[in-house]
Amino acid sequence: MQLVVIGGGHAGIEAAAIAARMGVPAVLLTMNLDQLGQMSCNPSIGGVGKGHMVRELDALGGAMGRLTDATGIHFRILNASRGVAVRGPRAQADRVKYRTASRNLLEGVPGLRLVQGVAAELKWAGGRLHGVELVDGSFLPCDAVVVTSGTFLNGKVLIGERKLDSGRAGEPPSTHLAQQLRALGLRCRRLKTGTSPRVNADTIDFSRLEPQWGDPVPRPFSFFSAGIPQRQVPCHIVHTTAETERAVRENLGRSSMYGGHVEGVGPRYCPSIEDKFVKFPGKDSHQIFVEPDSLETREIYLAGLSTSMPVDVQERMVRSLPGFERAEILRPGYAIEYDSFDPLQLTRGLQVAGLEGVWFAGQINGTTGYEEAAGQGLMAGINAVRSLRGQEPVVLGRDRAYIGVMIDDLVTKGTDEPYRMLTARAEHRLALACDLADARLLSVAREVGALSPGELGTVEARMERRERLREQCGEAWVAPTSPFGPIAARAGLTLASGMTLLDLLRRQQVTPDLADAALALLPGWELPQEGWDPRWERDILLFETRYQAFHEREARLLQGQRAWDHVRIPVDFRVEHLPGLSTEVKEKLQRHRPETLGQASRIPGITPAAVTLLHLLLERTR
Ligand code: FAD
Repeated sequence: MQLVVIGGGHAGIEAAAIAARMGVPAVLLTMNLDQLGQMSCNPSIGGVGKGHMVRELDALGGAMGRLTDATGIHFRILNASRGVAVRGPRAQADRVKYRTASRNLLEGVPGLRLVQGVAAELKWAGGRLHGVELVDGSFLPCDAVVVTSGTFLNGKVLIGERKLDSGRAGEPPSTHLAQQLRALGLRCRRLKTGTSPRVNADTIDFSRLEPQWGDPVPRPFSFFSAGIPQRQVPCHIVHTTAETERAVRENLGRSSMYGGHVEGVGPRYCPSIEDKFVKFPGKDSHQIFVEPDSLETREIYLAGLSTSMPVDVQERMVRSLPGFERAEILRPGYAIEYDSFDPLQLTRGLQVAGLEGVWFAGQINGTTGYEEAAGQGLMAGINAVRSLRGQEPVVLGRDRAYIGVMIDDLVTKGTDEPYRMLTARAEHRLALACDLADARLLSVAREVGALSPGELGTVEARMERRERLREQCGEAWVAPTSPFGPIAARAGLTLASGMTLLDLLRRQQVTPDLADAALALLPGWELPQEGWDPRWERDILLFETRYQAFHEREARLLQGQRAWDHVRIPVDFRVEHLPGLSTEVKEKLQRHRPETLGQASRIPGITPAAVTLLHLLLERTR
């Protein structure tokens, strides 16, 4: 039994590592082993929604959180002043170190073989997948394949009027495999994304830029990291000027996008600088983040200045930024368009429906972003292994993980433009707080064997400590004369008859500092926890106690939805002749092929009345 993963990007790394960790011999086949874990765009991981997915990946044995902790040079919790549910960890990784760390991690996974080469064709024999043929004529036998080819399928790089066949700047496209996948009849469309120019740090006057430091105590992404080893450095902020806008407007016709050279659809939430000036004409200036690329080079990434302008215009734009008058571009920005396949052709386990032994993950499915790719890679790897073992796929519910929300969105609704995770896509945000991903996904991690016994022990110990703390807070009595009395008074609370510490913490008047003061009085609270700050634990405690009523209401609502998610729609269920359903509903059901009633209910345009009727018809066929 062997699994081959095509592509050593963010999806491929996760798929290959988890498959081997689950005990199936795996091969990671990629074009260039020196590019494993390459960050094609800015070297930053996480953010709101995306950061949630990295924690979820980590809770399921994924690599991205650990790699980011090992190589991160600037950590920041976004939305830190807001509730736990919508905070997002984000880090600037060292691009060079991230590649090396990815390779070292993969080289250390027993049962995983790394192979440099280009996949040309998937081969079936007697209806079963039996291997992958490479362009050099060699052959890798396998029983399952996970394709994670990113932006490489028929990739074309665009700079101004120039169009170059390329999978990413300086790398060739993947054409043979793209041809075969199209020839198999899979629905394909062209998507597009873009990146910013990179500049030599020695040609920037940093004294004119606004520095932005990371958090004073960098918080690891991974539940298993002991700390952050790299030196931390600042990012900087600069704003575009009137001259930047002039440079863009005077040359719009020379941009690949506005000059009519692009056919692909671009990401709504990562607009190019051309788009920003054209679509938001009232806005005089746009913020640009000046991000260090690596501690080992002098390269600087300009986040927010993604462009497909010709190089001379890019130079003019860059030099129009205050402090960049002498700036030299090391690598120009560019746009790229590539083949992506309609994710409605996938099952909930990310297998390509109707293609024996093939899973797709990452940018190939119409997403954009490292974290989105990694989340799919992990689930495709897990499910390919489970399929080889004759087990049912693992499907993470929308109330269980942002990764579950993303995959459900992709395979249920599809996407016409590069899909990016946003917290607004999740309807159960309270249930999906990123700091609780380890606890939330522990049973899945156990079921699939994603974590080592030591890692499982770490999560279990943390959960036990949390439980003990809640019990202690429930038992500690706060009266005016108790040691907690002055803290209640500082919160402005009069204690007529006293209350438990848990009840006191429930009150909004108790600030985080007062909560710390109260918790410090409990025996054992300051126990050193490697890589885990007691203040983070305090935030979790406050979140859980203060939102208990909301959690309970949400849990009741979820019961109904979960019931629908358990009503399976048989593969051979024919909707064409069903009475009572409109033609539009029938067409949608045929196109989206939902596997459950819950999935059917989430297809845009399927009305509640149609779902009820469908439920009835399904009951009748039982
Ligand atoms: P990739 O990371 O692209 O990895 C694909 C891998 O597959 C590569 O290692 C490649 O060598 C290998 N491969 C391909 N074909 C074959 C083959 N036939 N045989 C063997 N190996 C093969 N994301 C954002 O979130 N925001 C952005 O603004 C953004 N901008 C981007 C701009 C550019 C120019 C590019 C290229 C990407 C951008 N991204 C952006 C996307 C981000 O890089 C991807 O979403 C992410 O890397 C996808 O991961 P992946 O694993 O699917 O593919």
